Amino acid sequence: MFTERPGHAAGRRHSILLAAALGAALFMPAGGACADELTPQQQLAHDIYKELLEIDTTTATGNTDRAAQAMAARLKAGGFADEDVHAFSPAPRKGNLVARLHGSGARKPILLVAHIDVVPANREDWSVDPFKLVEKDGYYYARGSGDDKYMAASFVTNMIRYKQEGYKPDRDIILALETDEEILDRDALGIQWLLKNHRDLIDAEFALNEGGGVGLKDGKPIRNSIQTSEKVSVSFLLEVKNSGGHSSVPRKDNAIYRLAEGLVKLSQFDFPLHLNETTRAYFAKSAQFESGQTADDMRAMAADNPDPAAVARLSASAVYNAQLRTTCVATMLQGGHAVNALPQLATAKVNCRVMPGEPMDGIKAALVRALADDQIAVTQIDQAVLSEPAKLDEQIVGAIDKLSGEFFPGAVVLPVMSAGATDGSYLRNAGIPTYGHSGLANDINDIRAHGKDERVPVKSFYQGDEYLYRLVKALSGGT
Ligand SMILES: [Zn+2]
Repeated sequence: MFTERPGHAAGRRHSILLAAALGAALFMPAGGACADELTPQQQLAHDIYKELLEIDTTTATGNTDRAAQAMAARLKAGGFADEDVHAFSPAPRKGNLVARLHGSGARKPILLVAHIDVVPANREDWSVDPFKLVEKDGYYYARGSGDDKYMAASFVTNMIRYKQEGYKPDRDIILALETDEEILDRDALGIQWLLKNHRDLIDAEFALNEGGGVGLKDGKPIRNSIQTSEKVSVSFLLEVKNSGGHSSVPRKDNAIYRLAEGLVKLSQFDFPLHLNETTRAYFAKSAQFESGQTADDMRAMAADNPDPAAVARLSASAVYNAQLRTTCVATMLQGGHAVNALPQLATAKVNCRVMPGEPMDGIKAALVRALADDQIAVTQIDQAVLSEPAKLDEQIVGAIDKLSGEFFPGAVVLPVMSAGATDGSYLRNAGIPTYGHSGLANDINDIRAHGKDERVPVKSFYQGDEYLYRLVKALSGGT
């Protein structure tokens, strides 16, 4: 077939290639794939990934409109009609895309979601150019390579593949690429804008979104996560005011000391245990990765009123503690206005990650109780996006179980609650149950999202792309 090096005459080659290659059903979980041995399908995935990664879509300074336009062009070149592809620009440099593959309509659509903005990357901190796709040591390096352009590129590529093979699903398959996820859609130009202005275009029975990857330990897949819920991020400002004065005549009542005393009390405060369907299943299934007392304690979380000693032991691990309860932590501190003046104001910022379903005003009240000082004013400083967990739907979990067994033999399919936030919370609030599930395999100790030298294993990229292709088919009546 085609031996040309990647990147020549992409559009023409792909449609012919795909029509030919797809007929031959060449695809299986990619082994030691690297750029030189790519199948036509993998070549398209590579090129779309490269195109997306090399558009700087840093939320504050980059251009997601260019990325949305580029993916619209790819979909149209791949055979989608103009009326089924919409690239929106709600503001300068900001872009969202929606595309639809029509099905029989026997069931409500499935929505595939991926954000196209990325967090900043300082060139001088990286060993490679963060806005160039670099293959090195079996990895693809670039800002957004994992978060979240792997999923965006895979979804676009697979939509073209479905189109090219004439796939007729029993439900429409909708793709939404949104901007501004990395700022929690603060200005409502991304997922909220789509929900508000084009709900009809993205309405669906459920959605697949980022989150929930495949954990590798010593190269072996051990868990394949389904993110069904996420904790709610909300922040508070703590303030202590004081009349101040000259620092040469200090008094006991000092704004900085007072705040510090309150923070020490907060550091010793724990919210009550709060388990839910997802976290109980998480602990029950994760016990096998632990041994001895920890494994026993994890199994103990299945009880209605787990043994307090087991809870206390598990809470000693920051990762497990974050799955057991709401947490609040001081993240920023300021005080004083001059070195020779007694401070008139001391402030701190506290970021809380609230268990889904816990009332917001209860959080503030708990903080006030923990600080136990009415001189410390507590003010909520951002809007919390509450979202109910998505149900562990058998149709979805069943399909994942089956496919995961084929692609990631030995990995436990694990429902998880993410301590971080995604656009899934807005979708869930809008009544679209959303599952974070990427199929992207990464070493559990090499998570580089938001960090420097972000990378994904080359093999995992093509394996994940194929996994998502198959999963969406399995969830839309295809074989
Ligand atoms: Zn992300």
